[in-house]
Amino acid sequence: PPRDADAVLEGLDPEQREVATALHGPVCVLAGAGTGKTRAITHRIAYGVRAGILPPASVLAVTFTSRAAGEMRGRLRQLGASGVQARTFHSAALRQLQFFWPRAVGGELPRLLERKVQLVAEAAARCRLRLDRNELRDLIGEIEWSKVTQTVPEDYPAVVAKTTRVPPRDPAETARVFGMYEQLKRDRSVIDFEDVLLLTVGVLQDRPDIADTVRGQYQHFVVDEYQDVSPLQQRLLELWVGDRQNLCVVGDASQTIYSFTGATPDHLLDFRTRHPDSTVVKLVRDYRSTPQVVHLANGLLSQATGRAAEHRLELVSQREAGPEPAYVEYADEPSEAEGTARRIRELIDSGVPASEIAVLYRINAQSEIYEQALVDADVPYQLRGAERFFERPEVREAGVALRSAARFGENDSLLDGAADLPSQVRAVLSGSGWTPEPPAGSGAVRDRWESLAALVRLAESLAASRSAAGKEAPTLGDFVAELDERANAQHAPTVEGVTLASLHSAKGLEWDAVFLTGLTEGMMPITHAKTDAQVEEERRLLYVGVTRARLHLTLSWALSRSPGGRGGRRPSRFLNGLRPGTSATGTRGSGGPGGIERGRSGGSRARKRRGPVQCRVCGRSLTDPGEMKLMRCEDCPSDMDEQLYERLREWRSEQAKQLGQ
Ligand code: ATP
Ligand code: MG
Repeated sequence: PPRDADAVLEGLDPEQREVATALHGPVCVLAGAGTGKTRAITHRIAYGVRAGILPPASVLAVTFTSRAAGEMRGRLRQLGASGVQARTFHSAALRQLQFFWPRAVGGELPRLLERKVQLVAEAAARCRLRLDRNELRDLIGEIEWSKVTQTVPEDYPAVVAKTTRVPPRDPAETARVFGMYEQLKRDRSVIDFEDVLLLTVGVLQDRPDIADTVRGQYQHFVVDEYQDVSPLQQRLLELWVGDRQNLCVVGDASQTIYSFTGATPDHLLDFRTRHPDSTVVKLVRDYRSTPQVVHLANGLLSQATGRAAEHRLELVSQREAGPEPAYVEYADEPSEAEGTARRIRELIDSGVPASEIAVLYRINAQSEIYEQALVDADVPYQLRGAERFFERPEVREAGVALRSAARFGENDSLLDGAADLPSQVRAVLSGSGWTPEPPAGSGAVRDRWESLAALVRLAESLAASRSAAGKEAPTLGDFVAELDERANAQHAPTVEGVTLASLHSAKGLEWDAVFLTGLTEGMMPITHAKTDAQVEEERRLLYVGVTRARLHLTLSWALSRSPGGRGGRRPSRFLNGLRPGTSATGTRGSGGPGGIERGRSGGSRARKRRGPVQCRVCGRSLTDPGEMKLMRCEDCPSDMDEQLYERLREWRSEQAKQLGQ
């Protein structure tokens, strides 16, 4: 690590240095993707700590995902500034709430609700409503929106009438189900995700003594991805900061992609108005991407409209020229997946590490076809946004075994001779049949092994980071706590492989090579984006995707869903005027440089299957070859957003359990 504080400023440009050194008073950084916002705030904290201005324990850095929080902690350690709290709003709030609950309310904090969809369905049933899955999705969306905008059930109809929001159903009905849902939660003594923030806000508002304690601990605040802050998170931040001024926020209005959860860039864009004495810094140098990628990103935003677009800044690439983005048109979805896997194989063979490659899609339901194609091409991969990891049965079972070992088994002969944490974890897992060496071949057995191996790696990295920080070795109990935190944050240990991720969960990350797939009308923008504002948000989502690429960028789409299908799908309107041979109005232009490549159609190789094929939407076993290839019934909707997909899975497994009883 550098010897003095100034060394931390090396490697920052003049504007970034300004961000890093303006340690007093409000600071707002407005800047485009890849301009070093996250880097600037990380160095700011490190500089302040090393200069002795910021006591590490007095700093709270708020990030959007727990992965980003982990990365920031890692960077801070490298820069010689450990001990800073870097957390998501939820994780910071949950910790405070757990700590203060006995004093504020008494007893222990109620447990977190695991099966929200089921409870909302039950609330609806009690209100004599039978809802299909789309109706349920919309209803949950309304409840979540109400909660992050701090709207109580009784007020919902009046509040929603004052917004431009189109209520999916009779607002009085929504309010009744919402009220019933809240009642059921109270009866069963559970709280949901939004309650964590609501209750923290409530405690800090009602109990000045507790608010004082929290403010006594945290004096300096830094918020990354501030464009996506919800009104509730904003309120929490205000309560944390109080009347002090040491707040630094950074964001890019053009990357606002969570407004469906109540987030709004207004907090970012109005920061100056709320804090007239603030330092505002703009960054325009793009350090991440080549001029070719930056040109495409600028072109995409030049067609954007709305408030975020008015504030956009033209990015200027600082990198050497690279390859032109490739546009590839495929006949059908399986060919697109196979073609993408083939290109990935070529990149890996040419020396690009698998961990430097990502395949991004609009909704998680698209992942499976890419998983299959990568398995076929023998390419290792990991799923991001990986709620799935902690939901896997083997991971749940391992969690139970580890928990009971942590609680009762420290003297167990199983753990005898196991010196540090990783070997203890290995010992517990081998108790359930896990072996240190992978089983031969692929398939379910191998998958199961990989999941447990990921747990061992996690134990290893926890032990290593503790020892690097000069702390005592972690116990099994610490490890279980770490697993719980990750499960809550829906975050899986990283495996070195190609990343498969939804565009939403790719936020803030970067790779050498990025494949943006499924860029057709209906998927990008997604069918249910109907209003202009929703379509603009879809455009920003694509902008987030484009700006994840450092060097290689491939944009692809398929003209029909299944082989030999009707076709008729069109490439995304957002590519008009950008892809060769088109103009912004969508009519054929004179044809630009390069051109659109035609992907080859799917090969006839036998596909390796893992067990019977089920529809990834409804779970029905599939027999029709076309449907099997798609892994979806012909009549199942494909336009579900990623969250709905996860909820449906949750809902389905619950239903299956009940049917089995
Ligand atoms: P996003 O909007 O996508 O979150 P960002 O503005 O937070 O992007 P960073 O992730 O901080 O950008 O930086 C993008 C890349 O550019 C990183 O690899 C970072 O290390 C690099 N970078 C940033 N600033 C500089 C600099 N001054 N010199 C060299 N590299 C830099
Ligand atoms: Mg960032």
